[in-house]
Amino acid sequence: MDLNTLELVKKYNFKFTKSLGQNFLVDDSVLKDIIEGAEISPEDHVIEIGPGVGTLTAELLKKAKRVTALELDASLIPILLEELKDRENFTLINKDALKVDFKEIINEGEKVKVVANLPYYVTTPIIAKLLNEGVNFDSLTIMIQKEVAERINACPGTKDYGALSLLVQYYCDTKIIRRVPPASFIPRPKVDSIVIKLIKLPGARVEVRDEAVFFKVIREAFNMRRKTLSNALKNMGLSKDALEEAFKEADIDSRRRGETLSIEEFASLANSINTRL
Ligand code: SAM
Repeated sequence: MDLNTLELVKKYNFKFTKSLGQNFLVDDSVLKDIIEGAEISPEDHVIEIGPGVGTLTAELLKKAKRVTALELDASLIPILLEELKDRENFTLINKDALKVDFKEIINEGEKVKVVANLPYYVTTPIIAKLLNEGVNFDSLTIMIQKEVAERINACPGTKDYGALSLLVQYYCDTKIIRRVPPASFIPRPKVDSIVIKLIKLPGARVEVRDEAVFFKVIREAFNMRRKTLSNALKNMGLSKDALEEAFKEADIDSRRRGETLSIEEFASLANSINTRL
């Protein structure tokens, strides 16, 4: 590795801010697996969220055509600019990744890969933003808490299955790259982590007439997890009779709970509801 996290933290006397999810990687084997897992090619534009002191960034810069890093902590900016000053293919943006318009930083026709050891407090909103806003990326190779990885990969009928599982599975295939123990970071987080790769599908996994309706059905179904679907979907804007007809047409028993429905069943129910709105 070109840069060493422990040395840089010492050199700049960097003070960690817990509320920014600052757990820096100090295990080279994990950095190597992230880089290999991301399968970066020389024509790729890599977007890194939260570069920290730049250890992963330096490796990404060697593989990609260019790297754009988004870092919220202003105290890291001079460190990154100093340590990566010779890299011409590097752009640093001192901004909250949740407030960045990703479409603005991507050029037309570019192949984009997102690679990040994500700050855990914003993991789900960042994934949701990238997927919901139609950001044109090929894959997202990210370090996340083990529990979030389990929610992403969950199957119907399990306690982890929910809106996040359906959102990711609608747009992506997933691949677990590796598990990462707390000892691979400074300071050590309390939880185990997983490096997961979300690989964007060429089209959505299921055909839906209106994505807004599809995701609203999902949201309502999981808002009231313990309720039957006929109760949970009362606010979809249909009369009781029209809702029952929609269930019949989709061949779904309205006494079921949302957590038992597959993505295909959610699509067919949302489509039947949609035609009656
Ligand atoms: N990439 C480094 C590594 O692997 O060691 C640091 C990863 S650390 C888990 C998360 C990084 O994200 C920190 O540098 C933190 O300051 C930054 N960060 C936190 N919230 C952010 C946000 N909303 N937008 C952009 N960066 C953020």
